[in-house]
Amino acid sequence: MTAHTPLRSIDALVAQGLVVPARRAALDAVAGRYAVSVTPAIAALIDPSDAADPIARQFIPDAAELLTLPQEMADPIGDEAHSPVEGVVHRYPDRALLKLVHACPVYCRFCFRREMVGPGGASLAGEKLDAALAYLASRPEIWEVIMTGGDPFILSGRRVRDVAKRLAAIPHIKVTRWHTRVPVVDPERVTADYARALRVPGKASYIAIHANHPREFTPAARAAIARLADAGHVLLSQSVLLKGVNADVETLSALMRAFVENRVKPYYLHHPDLAPGTSHFRLSLAEGQALVKSLRGHLSGLCQPTYILDIPGGAGKIPVGPSFLSGCETPGAEARAEDRFGTQHSYPPV
Ligand SMILES: *Cc1c(COP(=O)(O)O)cnc(C)c1O
Ligand code: SF4
Repeated sequence: MTAHTPLRSIDALVAQGLVVPARRAALDAVAGRYAVSVTPAIAALIDPSDAADPIARQFIPDAAELLTLPQEMADPIGDEAHSPVEGVVHRYPDRALLKLVHACPVYCRFCFRREMVGPGGASLAGEKLDAALAYLASRPEIWEVIMTGGDPFILSGRRVRDVAKRLAAIPHIKVTRWHTRVPVVDPERVTADYARALRVPGKASYIAIHANHPREFTPAARAAIARLADAGHVLLSQSVLLKGVNADVETLSALMRAFVENRVKPYYLHHPDLAPGTSHFRLSLAEGQALVKSLRGHLSGLCQPTYILDIPGGAGKIPVGPSFLSGCETPGAEARAEDRFGTQHSYPPV
């Protein structure tokens, strides 16, 4: 094994001191159910002496994953029902997902697509890629294409450049967006050349970078993110609100500031989806709203993400507050506006 090989089994995690041998049997059962991978960059970030390490909690298998609750679902956000051809999910008229790969460099223990992602599956190529691109080209209402997976940044620069070139030839597509965790989990992959290969000529290019804890912003991760920004991509954030990882005001504030300091505009903070075996990460919507409300109280407007729930079953994403306004539903009634100290102020009906 070289220093660049991800740790893909419980044995490998034990050998690196990231799992104590006594937990091997229990965690082998987890690894038999859900994919495991920890990159060297992430392994180096974990403090094995800290049982509550927020990086370990995101990536090291936990026996709690063997508990599946009745309300948890294999396809929590209902992708399947909206897939017209393999590799495309078209739920909203103006934008579609293009799922280029099933694999990721790491497997997050809370992943909403954990029943779909994993090593070994073929990437979207050949006739399947042709069919997916033909679908996108046949629908003039598709204004934006979102490349996801799995993690599309595990593709080679040559493959990425090929997809980019083919998207460039579809006139009604004006915007492209990549969703990735690679800049933080395997930053060396994002070379300046790679950052340029991701540009789709003639289109506005956005990249949503997934990170959940301020410690993920290592010097190497910051440099990778800078290469993407310098190549002309607009950078957005994507995070999941996770119990034991970032569900407190200090951590969430530091995370949002880290994004902004690295030229990444906070975009979505996801409420955790009902993925199987993830109940130990979930908090209530009311707890989430209280946390997001406290961000509004003391952080720059640049640091404010939108708190999002993907409605289970496939009805789509909605912002879930918090709300600072009440009483305006009644015609003719005064609204009450709550300031950052919790004081209510009235606002006239018209
Ligand atoms: C999340 C998602 C999108 C992107 O939604 P935005 O609100 O534009 O970020 C698009 N299509 C599908 C199917 C999705 O699940
Ligand atoms: S990188 Fe994304 S798709 Fe891959 S395991 Fe993590 S959350 Fe799931």
